[in-house]
Amino acid sequence: MSHVLRRSLTASQPSIVGGEGAYLIDEHGKRYLDACGGAAVSSLGHDNAAVRKAICDQVNTLAFAHTGLFTNKWAEELSDYLVAHAPEGTGEGRVMYLGSGSEAMEAALKLARQYHVERGETDRAHIIARAPSYHGNTLGALAVSGHAGRRATFAPLLIETHHIDATYNYRLQHTDESEAAFGLRMANQLEAKILALGAENVCAFVAEPVVGASLGTQPAPAGYFKRIREICDTYGVLYIADEVMCGMGRTGSLFALEQEGICADITTMAKGLGAGYQPIAAVMANQKICDAIVAGSGKLWNGHTYMSHAVATAGAMAVMHEIDGRNLLEAVRARGAQLEAALHERLGQHAHVGDIRGRGLFWTAEIVENRATKAPFAVSRNIAGRVQAAAMQAGMICYPAQGCADGTAGDHILLAPCFTSTAGEIDIIVETLAAAID
Ligand code: PLP
Repeated sequence: MSHVLRRSLTASQPSIVGGEGAYLIDEHGKRYLDACGGAAVSSLGHDNAAVRKAICDQVNTLAFAHTGLFTNKWAEELSDYLVAHAPEGTGEGRVMYLGSGSEAMEAALKLARQYHVERGETDRAHIIARAPSYHGNTLGALAVSGHAGRRATFAPLLIETHHIDATYNYRLQHTDESEAAFGLRMANQLEAKILALGAENVCAFVAEPVVGASLGTQPAPAGYFKRIREICDTYGVLYIADEVMCGMGRTGSLFALEQEGICADITTMAKGLGAGYQPIAAVMANQKICDAIVAGSGKLWNGHTYMSHAVATAGAMAVMHEIDGRNLLEAVRARGAQLEAALHERLGQHAHVGDIRGRGLFWTAEIVENRATKAPFAVSRNIAGRVQAAAMQAGMICYPAQGCADGTAGDHILLAPCFTSTAGEIDIIVETLAAAID
């Protein structure tokens, strides 16, 4: 019996022993083409020499010193890099490092609240997010998540939050509605919600710039985030961009929000930041937030033992150097265009593929029972899980999700191949996925 407390206490799993480029290798020597990198984590594949070396060098120099007393070269350098590459308008922002996306979301919520308190806006406590959505497993991040299935057991422990609809084009855009009109209608839900709660009581709005969790990969309709920014500015509400999954190059720009032409007040990032080589996440506050804290208490009312860990930040800095030095954002755009075209060609007319959506190297096929009516398969049939199992049997890993536990969305298969994928690997991914769905 395994004494590891895992997500499934009943299923057995192969033990993983190595990685080579885009491939994972299990204890029996079976090779799996990793088409999702966990969930958009392993952006550089599994054997990046430069990142490994940076981590080893730092371990051999110094692993840990208390960040209440010391800063370190890598935390400083990485923060300079992230702020310099952040969407225009971020100004002289600052970055805090944590261990996971959920922790980053907790820190973001607390930072937003502290900003208002520093300004004497103590009534501003309501958080608005979207549904469906997923922002993490810890109690604050889960409270924000519009995910009925994950929330149900813990409902009595969750702070009250408010939700508007996620921009789920496939199911919510009317047939006679332009994308711009759809985006405007969806964004205006935020204004209505703020007015219903009383603007003076609202703290922040949380949304992924390109959805990854819960809906599959869903870019926002053009103009949506410009209107969101306008509404937030009008009512003094902060916008928290959750870039835990879509950030760090995954959609073809370092920050996904860059492509929407706005900046966030607070941005979280995680998975692609360490690319799986180190567990590291970050929360970036823009200048407005930092200025308010400096003018107020001057203190951040949040902290963790391992924040700014030198080994983790050294690894993440090396990941950024790889992205820059090897021109990987361009590779994401080129391979992403190939992936998009191949998915449409191979699955665009498939009887059970209702929608194909995404951006960069971040794509999803939504599987439905009936293409004409968009009716999903019954949740109990676990179609996404079965597609994952069939692909794994064939030597490829993809990420399954059932958008909504209540059956109001189809099964999603998420693809997030590494940025270093070859054209041949992209072809194999699409062919293996199609065979698994068949
Ligand atoms: N936010 C988003 C958008 C995510 O996709 C996830 C994880 O999948 C999280 C937050 C939570 O990150 P973590 O699992 O590292 O705690």
